[in-house]
Amino acid sequence: MKILIKNANIIDPINNLRGKHDLMIVNGKIEKIATEISVEEIIKEEYKIVDLEGKYLLPGLIDMHTHLREPGYEDKETIKSGCEAAAAGGFTTIACMPNTKPVADNAATVEYIKSKAENALVKVIPIGSITKKSEGKELAEIGFLKEAGVRALSDDGYPVMNSEIMRRAMEYSGSFDLPIISHCEDIDLVAEGVMNEGYNSTILGLKGIPAAAEEIMISRDIILAEFTGAQLHIAHISTKRGLDMLAEAKKKGVKVSAETTPHHLVLSDDAVKGYNPDTKVNPPLRSEEDIQALREGIKSGIIEVIATDHAPHTYEDKLGEYNYAAFGISGFETAISLLYSNLIAKDIISFEDLVLLMGKNPARILGLDYPGIKENAIADLIVFDDKNKWKLEKKNMKSKGKNTPFAGQEMQGKVILTIVDGKIVYNDMKGKGELCYG
Ligand SMILES: [Zn+2]
Repeated sequence: MKILIKNANIIDPINNLRGKHDLMIVNGKIEKIATEISVEEIIKEEYKIVDLEGKYLLPGLIDMHTHLREPGYEDKETIKSGCEAAAAGGFTTIACMPNTKPVADNAATVEYIKSKAENALVKVIPIGSITKKSEGKELAEIGFLKEAGVRALSDDGYPVMNSEIMRRAMEYSGSFDLPIISHCEDIDLVAEGVMNEGYNSTILGLKGIPAAAEEIMISRDIILAEFTGAQLHIAHISTKRGLDMLAEAKKKGVKVSAETTPHHLVLSDDAVKGYNPDTKVNPPLRSEEDIQALREGIKSGIIEVIATDHAPHTYEDKLGEYNYAAFGISGFETAISLLYSNLIAKDIISFEDLVLLMGKNPARILGLDYPGIKENAIADLIVFDDKNKWKLEKKNMKSKGKNTPFAGQEMQGKVILTIVDGKIVYNDMKGKGELCYG
């Protein structure tokens, strides 16, 4: 496929590129960028010509924390459907957590995921588990996982409760140059908790999860990372005190990074009023004060990554009483619009920050190339239309998981084109939301 993109408003902090340009894409790569490429320069029949009329063109985004559910839970999501939702959300690369059935604690499962992902719309980076079956008891075969192509290790969904095993995991992962992504949660303190512990949990009569359950594990893992020299990445950080500890550790030179999610940046535990099971997520939606701290954190660079923690579930998984519903939000298709409406349009962060938080920084942590928009670079690109007002409807979601607290909500701004390896994989320029194979 050859594409001539006209009138793109490029934002690329990687190459310090900003403003109106034309682009020529040939054989998967960006062949030429210029302030103007005239149609006379090309053989028209060979090219698809796309006039962006000044809409934003950004490097494709990376979601480093997602759940694709395959193998084992294909009723929640498949690699195919998850990648379709990711393409519609503006992600060109996604990393998937190993809590499948079987757990990705072995090379064969990682190979299976990779082979399924070959025909998917976006690039998939598998993450291997830290311990066998993610049970926290015995280290997984980390060397074989690395050989099979994993870029990080995590027991996400569960913490590694045993500190001795976490120490060994950190020592071992270091020799394979793999970061440990830690799901920080003291399960004894969480007990049967279903939402943030505080005023709202008392009023609603729901069992609370204290912030301390997360913070105790963050502090333990920072101590172990300092002790072992390992590269630690804290998944879905959600509390103010957790951030303070992160800032202090960074100041001391501990190799630690962290991510937060779009939903933790925009929703507080007030959203649980009404007992909508789609607001049930782990870690839980926290207080207004925590949200403000997280926003400060992404602005100051203390939090280096925003990841969706895309966690699709079936209708039945989320049915019924709040106490029994599954944890998780289907996040791919709302992430960028939420971040635009709530943060970028309000000047809390810029588009440049977004590309760092959801592109450059996750790429660095996972050891991936991220060339941005320049000549000869792989053409992984997205187009964002800030004027596009749309309403999220569950029936229009590409993900099998319709579990989102944002259903029915008006959104400002939308990803309308996703290009992976120089091919258009998602096209919503005419409001049709087309997925493009082949
Ligand atoms: Zn997760």
